[in-house]
Amino acid sequence: MEQKKPILFDKFTPVNYRYQKIMYCKKCGRYTSIENITCPKCGHNNLITMDKHNERAVKMRSQADLLIMLALFFVSIIVARSKYEIALSIGAGVFFTIILILIHKKYMESEKALNLYKIFTNSFQDIKQGLDMDEAKALKKMKDTNFKQAYEDLREIGVLLQDDRIKENKLLCLSNFVLRKDEDLELDSLILSYYSPILVNYIDEVLKLNRTLVRRNVIDYIIKYEGYILQMKNGQDILGNVAGAAVNSKQNIILYKDFIMRYIDVLPKDRIVRLHNITRDSNLKELNDIYAETREVIDYRFGTDNDIKKIMY
Ligand SMILES: [Zn+2]
Repeated sequence: MEQKKPILFDKFTPVNYRYQKIMYCKKCGRYTSIENITCPKCGHNNLITMDKHNERAVKMRSQADLLIMLALFFVSIIVARSKYEIALSIGAGVFFTIILILIHKKYMESEKALNLYKIFTNSFQDIKQGLDMDEAKALKKMKDTNFKQAYEDLREIGVLLQDDRIKENKLLCLSNFVLRKDEDLELDSLILSYYSPILVNYIDEVLKLNRTLVRRNVIDYIIKYEGYILQMKNGQDILGNVAGAAVNSKQNIILYKDFIMRYIDVLPKDRIVRLHNITRDSNLKELNDIYAETREVIDYRFGTDNDIKKIMY
């Protein structure tokens, strides 16, 4: 097996809504999620965000409405038979133009939301095709062993396409690197719908760097495949580390009590102390048994360790 390399990935920019990762080319209509300046199809610097693309479409429609209004206004002047009718046409034209502008202004946000929905409905195939082409490019980079860029591309595409294939390829890329604590590490967005030892090892690696990334979907995944993980070479230790990560709040201890108790003998020292302190202070009947067992385990595992008394406040 090749030696893992240290790496620092480019910063990941989070978005409020997933669609905001898509860019649109004004020139050729290509959608992409891995480029933000040059279009991967026509090569022009004509990429705009989906919000901008949507805003343009809504503005163009309100301009079309205004043009129709102006046309009607001029027709009514041409067909007017007296000065009075001309004055009436001008008055009505100005009045309705102001009303139209005010209506567009008032309902701009709901028009944008409606139009965005229309873009996704009408252009679904084009967007999907654009993302598939992005994914093919990322796979090509993987084949060329450019795992850093391949991962960064898949990370962008994965915001929109959250399927197992993309997650697995991201994991394959990540398995080539030594991870760093100061990275934008992802974890719950990589959880697969099936058992994968690569993912299990990745979970173990990440939790050693940042335990707070282990959320409930990660713990649920580990519990679901506990039987398989126990057959892994370091399976028992991984389960102990995940059980340790589950000891982060009273709610999680209640929820994962049985799982934590199964690995209480291999919980890292700081985690068993935390478990002791939380269960002792909780005043909850349902945690009495785990508190009693934690005390026993601390006695026989760390009985002669005087340092532990200092952290068991
Ligand atoms: Zn283009």
